[in-house]
Amino acid sequence: LIRVFLFCFFVVSQIFSEQVNEMGGIPIMTYHRISDSDTEYSRNYQSFRNDLQFLYENGFHPISIVELDTGKITAPKGKIPVILSFDDSSIQQFEYDAKGQISKNTALGIMEEFEKSTKGWKAISVFFVTPGAKSPNNFFGQPDLNKKKADYLISKGHSIENHTLWHANMRKYNNRIEEQIGVCISEVRKYLPNHDMKYLAMPFGIFPKDPDLPRLIQGTYKTTNYKNNLIFDYSNRVSDSPYSQQFNRYHVKRLHGNENGIKALQRAIKKNELFISDGNPNTITISKSQTVLLSGITKKGFDIQTY
Ligand SMILES: [Zn+2]
Repeated sequence: LIRVFLFCFFVVSQIFSEQVNEMGGIPIMTYHRISDSDTEYSRNYQSFRNDLQFLYENGFHPISIVELDTGKITAPKGKIPVILSFDDSSIQQFEYDAKGQISKNTALGIMEEFEKSTKGWKAISVFFVTPGAKSPNNFFGQPDLNKKKADYLISKGHSIENHTLWHANMRKYNNRIEEQIGVCISEVRKYLPNHDMKYLAMPFGIFPKDPDLPRLIQGTYKTTNYKNNLIFDYSNRVSDSPYSQQFNRYHVKRLHGNENGIKALQRAIKKNELFISDGNPNTITISKSQTVLLSGITKKGFDIQTY
């Protein structure tokens, strides 16, 4: 009987340890255009649907970028948080057709269709926009509809964040860092008054030289002040847990939204390397051996539970 009891205890503890791992990595998928081809900056419509299906079937749960920032992650117990990010604000991400409907074969159209056809999946994402880029990357390529699109995205829980005014290489144009970040915000405020942007994705994933890095985090251009809580790269890596000392909030890793990105996730799932939520945004659940990895932010407003 004792042997049976010990065996059950072992099984239960194994299941628990496999199910919850809040020191694991969080994938931040990066997409550009959704179109008829699979290339570096384009994901085919059906491939994108397949990506969503893969994420859904493998227990991922979309969270907002604010949840990554604060660490208050609301993914249900046993789910793996994932962030869907879309760069360059092209019309292939969000288009209204002649009847005023959201076009089906766009990022937003596919995400909404997927949300309707599944249980528990929420179509939320972050759009890193370039309002001063050439059409159709100038805030989704239909200037007359800027306000309607901005209002719609916010009402549905999406985030509209900074990808610079016109996708400037910030190492090359380091004389324009404040202008590129500040005017991106003031342009969007023309149709979304009081909108703030607290998250920046680096164009091309290129960071300026070290002395210029503080200018990405905080600055002023004319009357526009900005402060970026998170800055994202394009490294094709899974982000560290926001509770980990490894997590660098001014250089957050993102994974490419393509075949290779999905393969990387398959490997990470097998190795049990991903964040698996305990279902409580205020509690951090990790193994005892992981406590040495906890970062300073975890001392503020979180209960730490170990197993
Ligand atoms: Zn970009």
